[in-house]
Amino acid sequence: MKVVKFGGSSLSDSERIKNAAGIIRDAVKKERIIVVLSAMQGITNRLINASEKAETGDSGYKEDIEFIKEKHLTTVRNIFSPRNLTGIITRLQMMFNELEDILHGVELVRECSRRTLDLVMSFGERMSCTVAVEYLNACGCKAGLIDTRTCIRTDNRYGNAAVDFNISYTLIKKELKTVSLPIVTGFIASAEDGITTTLGRNGSDYTASIVGAAVEADCIEIWTDVDGVMSADPRFVENAFVIPELSYQEAMELSYFGAKILHPYTMIPAIEKNIPIRIKNSFNPSAPGTLIVNKIKGHPYPITGIASIDSIALINVEGGGMIGMPGIAARIFGALARASVNIMMISQASSEHSVCLVFSEDESERAVGSLNEELALELETKRIEKFELKKDLVMIAVIGENMRGTPGISGRVFSALGRRGINVFAIAQGSSERNISLIIAKVDEQHALETIHHAFLENDDKENKGHG
Ligand code: ASP
Ligand code: MG
Repeated sequence: MKVVKFGGSSLSDSERIKNAAGIIRDAVKKERIIVVLSAMQGITNRLINASEKAETGDSGYKEDIEFIKEKHLTTVRNIFSPRNLTGIITRLQMMFNELEDILHGVELVRECSRRTLDLVMSFGERMSCTVAVEYLNACGCKAGLIDTRTCIRTDNRYGNAAVDFNISYTLIKKELKTVSLPIVTGFIASAEDGITTTLGRNGSDYTASIVGAAVEADCIEIWTDVDGVMSADPRFVENAFVIPELSYQEAMELSYFGAKILHPYTMIPAIEKNIPIRIKNSFNPSAPGTLIVNKIKGHPYPITGIASIDSIALINVEGGGMIGMPGIAARIFGALARASVNIMMISQASSEHSVCLVFSEDESERAVGSLNEELALELETKRIEKFELKKDLVMIAVIGENMRGTPGISGRVFSALGRRGINVFAIAQGSSERNISLIIAKVDEQHALETIHHAFLENDDKENKGHG
């Protein structure tokens, strides 16, 4: 049994939906499959836009609703025969009406809580899955809709709810038994009282692996629009290639560090039940894709891949007065946490007189504000120097299982960058040794990625090979 998940790019229009249905029908011939779908491409963003406009009383949200309606109606007109068209249009129309009512409510009260936003966003997956179920049935494949609000149970952290696995696994197994070809809504779930929640943006991948773990599937296939996980961003590195095999840990590191291919949580349920995940390209189904497993056979190179995240900022908190001052790190992190600044990387030199903090550029103002407040006394008494915010930076993460216990990798990374005159502002290596992260200027991004890729992933020279 396998779980087959299609993302928005595989469901962007009538042609793509027909193509996905073809892949599903082929797979059904071989084994029992469970399908998980995202919303059609662009729909979740439109739903969010609509909510934001309605909340400010801007009636422009009606244009977003129109867009969403037109997109679904055009799609179904293209794929359904006239005989089957009325049924699906009626079903969609009911959802459009409900969505309109909700957004009109938001407009009237000028308020859209996270809870309401989750309800609004849920329409994307509910609509795409309704279209798919009806279409597959029209093609003679007996499909049924599983609305995951009935079987994925979460807490009520709207927008990014935490899953209760025990309850969910039991409910999912029960629900899935009722249908021969289940079409499961990605991304959405519900809290104890049945209120709609969501699992975080791009959460359909995560849904696929929750469902896969619940039924102990043999494989979780994630169908997307690229051939697999790449060794580096191909927009920057011409020689980037598809990585045939990754460990769960490597995949997790790569997805945390901006390789947008998988929701980082996806690996968690898969690891628990040891289920392989395969990334496939719905535009190129014959390509083998990337296989993500517990134990890899071994990579040919000393590193596996390079990821990068843009729009990064950095603050260096520095001062002679910080030496041997217990609790200073806790105060810094506490202040940033209260200001909801997500710290992406930290490094502290053992001289203890500076701590370097890295976060997303759009959180800079909050970060500076909260630190100035928390450290006001230390700044005044000059125990801490006035800190400087550096912007226009990029975080690069060099990732790979082979780096563990292989001496000299970080040395080679930095000397390669040094030879090219690329300045490194900060460095961190986790003790898992699977990841070396560094901060450089945005202007050096392409150059740095090419340099590291070239140094580690393009040379067949024996000396360059890892021990994989
Ligand atoms: N439709 C949701 C989103 O756009 C979930 C997903 O696509 O995975 O975030
Ligand atoms: Mg996705």
